[in-house]
Amino acid sequence: MRIYGLVQDSIVDGPGLRFVCFVQGCPHRCPGCHNPDSHDSGGGREMAVEEVIGAMRSNPLTDGLTLSGGEPMEQAEDCLRLAQAAHGAGLNVWCYTGYQYELLRDRGTAAQRALLAQLDVLVDGPFLLAQRSLSLPWRGSRNQRLIDVPASLAAGAVVPWGEDGSIQSAEILLHENACKGKIIYR
Ligand code: SF4
Repeated sequence: MRIYGLVQDSIVDGPGLRFVCFVQGCPHRCPGCHNPDSHDSGGGREMAVEEVIGAMRSNPLTDGLTLSGGEPMEQAEDCLRLAQAAHGAGLNVWCYTGYQYELLRDRGTAAQRALLAQLDVLVDGPFLLAQRSLSLPWRGSRNQRLIDVPASLAAGAVVPWGEDGSIQSAEILLHENACKGKIIYR
């Protein structure tokens, strides 16, 4: 798979300590994107999925895997293998995508729909500069949704993650998509 970077111990890409796989290549090209170097699908470097899984499993303190980018849904088959390995290791799985949930669910490729079904939380939609906010937990602009994927697939409608208010009321102050973690490769 094509990788932009790997990060251990991130605390800004979902709850707990997270292993973050930033994939290389993104077709969305959002103005103000925090990772413009990740757009070129020919950039970054090739890594075997097994190598990424090995890095993910190397830290016993990790709570979850976050797929980010770049656009994980453009490498859905490889990201699916990562997500399955994460669940096999007892980790939860979050994914950031510039696509909307409904589009992936209804018109995604077979691999994209399989990846969607393997996620715990999807943070969906492009980064919109006009809706940028520095105070939102886990996301950069107000249009982006935190979606409880298993509950949403079961209900046939979007179920927000953390809608009980526990997440929204938590004092999580993030600066825009910055990554506080140990960079393995970037
Ligand atoms: S979807 Fe994410 S990585 Fe892609 S251009 Fe938008 S903000 Fe950047």
